[in-house]
Amino acid sequence: MNLSTGELHDLSLVELANALRQRKVSAIEAAQHFLARAKTHDALGVYLARDEAVTLDQAGAADQLLAKSGGGKLEGVPLAHKDIFVTKDFVTTAGSRMLRDYRSPFDATVVANLGREGAVTLGKLNCDEFAMGSSNENSAVAPMGHAQPTPVPNPWNTAHIPGGSSGASAVVVAARLAPATTGTDTGGSIRQPASFCGITGIKPSYGRASRYGMVAFASSLDQAGPMARNAQDCALLLSSICGPDLDRDSTSLDLPVEDFSRLLGDSLQGLRIGVPREFFGDGVAQDVRVAVEAALMQYEKLGARRVPISLPRTELSIPVYYIIAPAEASSNLGRFDGVKFGHRAHDYKDLQDMYRKTRAEGFGDEVKRRIMIGTYVLSHGYYDAYYLQAQKIRRMLADDFQQAFKQCDVIAGPVAPTVAWKIGEKSHDPVANYLADIFTLPASLAGLPGMSVPAGFGAHGLPVGLQLIGNYLQEAKLLNVAHQFQLATDFHTRKPQGF
Ligand code: GLN
Repeated sequence: MNLSTGELHDLSLVELANALRQRKVSAIEAAQHFLARAKTHDALGVYLARDEAVTLDQAGAADQLLAKSGGGKLEGVPLAHKDIFVTKDFVTTAGSRMLRDYRSPFDATVVANLGREGAVTLGKLNCDEFAMGSSNENSAVAPMGHAQPTPVPNPWNTAHIPGGSSGASAVVVAARLAPATTGTDTGGSIRQPASFCGITGIKPSYGRASRYGMVAFASSLDQAGPMARNAQDCALLLSSICGPDLDRDSTSLDLPVEDFSRLLGDSLQGLRIGVPREFFGDGVAQDVRVAVEAALMQYEKLGARRVPISLPRTELSIPVYYIIAPAEASSNLGRFDGVKFGHRAHDYKDLQDMYRKTRAEGFGDEVKRRIMIGTYVLSHGYYDAYYLQAQKIRRMLADDFQQAFKQCDVIAGPVAPTVAWKIGEKSHDPVANYLADIFTLPASLAGLPGMSVPAGFGAHGLPVGLQLIGNYLQEAKLLNVAHQFQLATDFHTRKPQGF
């Protein structure tokens, strides 16, 4: 491979990691290349923070290890993190005015784990405020190169949103500004933007990735995961991201670190793919239907068998999620009171007034909406009618999946009912946003691993993603199911024009 730095950004993560190890390129060169590229594309509004000195320092340390043939699996590989992971070397905002200048005294476990394997941090990425949203339009922080908060465009068609809440994390990979990024998924925020931007992303089983240092949204749902060009890259990253962290996150699973690449290469002969009837209803756009159908036919060619299944409570996942997630958010966001973290109002009469003004100024509209819904469903007299009911249905939804997995090995369907919508199209209609989450919410509520895999293109030249859902702890199998598809197709290798 002849490596002029001009081609660096076209390498996949695994290719770049190998090039670094073989000293075809240095970590410093790679870091400089991606930093320069980020600056050139600051119009996209994806970076909320960068610090060249910090990045080059990390790259220099990686080069020293590489020179001695040492270092970790990701030694010298540049990555960027969703600005929901706290970092000691970069400001962490979670896309909120509340945390505009916040600097954490420690790194999130996910960031630390990737750093331990040698990853170099390029900076922090834009996202919906506190990860609440589906379009990246809810960020309240001005990205680098911008004086005001600005919507992040989809690189495939800049009039459209990139998805959310990890919108910028998806754009950075699609526009080749980094080989991979981190994201978080509470109700679909890795899978949906991956789908809308034509990249690959995986949300592991709940408990696989430590939530320590992930700014909390809905703690029983939040999970971190990688967003990259392909399943092979995701497998490598996920192996570093996940691992037990019981002292710091009591919901962290007490399981040894796994090599999620270990099944890549297994044949899909005889694999039973469950296709839920409810994922192909009237609300699914024709272009999405066609791409997903073609993907299923591709799987049949690879030796898999389609099994019709039913997830009868799919529709209920929307009201259930939009009760449970705001309930947990209203509690988690109680900590932003002007005393302990971030923003504090300047003029106030007394303590109550300080709380009120701080929160009124610090939170954006969508966050306030969720706090109000959450407080309402948890209040005396409504708790039984809403929150408790939602919890019961959540259990049933999880049981439905277990019934389905008696008949199939993985479940496949669309990630979202449509391709990415236009910027502004749903920004004043929260319910329209919520409804578009219908196919990602069920796996989140059940705590199951889910992926998005590029499966073609639909209206306006925009990508369509195939969703794959596995049973608990079946990430390695899921990644191979995606990998085999990617060996047979080239959707994941396409890139938007101009990048
Ligand atoms: N779109 C969903 C929401 O707004 C999911 C967000 C997420 O996964 N962080 O809550």
